[in-house]
Amino acid sequence: MRIKVEDLSKQYKNGNLALKDVNLEIDSGMFGLLGPNGAGKTTLMRILVTLMKPTKGTIQYNGLDLFKNRREIRSMLGYLPQDFRFFQKLKTWEFLDYVASLSGLYDSKKRKQAVDEMLEKVGLYEARDRNANKLSGGMKRRLGIAQALIGDPKIVVVDEPTTGLDPEERIRFRNLLAEMAERDIIIVLSTHIVGDISSTCNNMALLHNGEVVFNAPPNQLIEKARGHVWEVKAIDSELDQIKEKYPVISTIPADNGWEVQVVADELKDFPGKQIDPNLEHAYVYFVEYELGQKWNDDLN
Ligand code: ADP
Repeated sequence: MRIKVEDLSKQYKNGNLALKDVNLEIDSGMFGLLGPNGAGKTTLMRILVTLMKPTKGTIQYNGLDLFKNRREIRSMLGYLPQDFRFFQKLKTWEFLDYVASLSGLYDSKKRKQAVDEMLEKVGLYEARDRNANKLSGGMKRRLGIAQALIGDPKIVVVDEPTTGLDPEERIRFRNLLAEMAERDIIIVLSTHIVGDISSTCNNMALLHNGEVVFNAPPNQLIEKARGHVWEVKAIDSELDQIKEKYPVISTIPADNGWEVQVVADELKDFPGKQIDPNLEHAYVYFVEYELGQKWNDDLN
């Protein structure tokens, strides 16, 4: 499976330019689209699933033009939108059964089997007779991924799936996606949470003000930060100075004060040692030093 996005731009009617000349090639596996709020992720996701047309540019799915072959491509797609909602008063299994029939599973016996299997997979089998709109937040999100996966899609697009989930549900959700990505399908995961783009993403892109500013496997982003992540030992009175000078990734209490992790081209005025970068360090380093944008909490 391959998605090819070429010179894609989207300008909304009010003049907002949400995407600017986006070029991407996405192959089978999990693809992470990372960017702060307002970067253009939802716009790109909605275009990818044919819910919106771009102002300019083309998208091909295995060589098929998305806008000339909408029907055919839609039958290959599963989509979990950011604001996933569903009809009132359907039991959990009924909702999945309904989605399965929409996706072309007409044989009722096969459909029941597919629904039961999917309920098991996402851990909702015990809750199958509960009203779908009475499920907890995490369970609703799992039902969301179940409905995106039920028609055996070749491409699954999930928009900000872990926002608002507690840590346990978040891990569960990530593992579920990683398991799905082992099949020969494409999963496009959009998020502003760096932790969602884990080692399970074999490729990623960073979207910033509608532009792709980085596109390569996550390890390559990490390598960019090597030599620029520092652990500084600080006492209380130094903490504010450090925060003023460098983007701080974490502050951990230590023996006589704090261990502070910062990213910096060079560490001046404070004693510290270099440490191995992770993706979170790398993201902050890239935005701060390569894009030259002042660090702010929005990026977290
Ligand atoms: P993200 O999903 O990364 O938060 P969006 O795709 O939602 O980003 O938004 C990208 C940009 O487009 C933002 O500046 C946003 O304000 C703008 N935008 C999104 N939807 C609309 C719309 N319907 N009309 C006008 N501008 C929009």
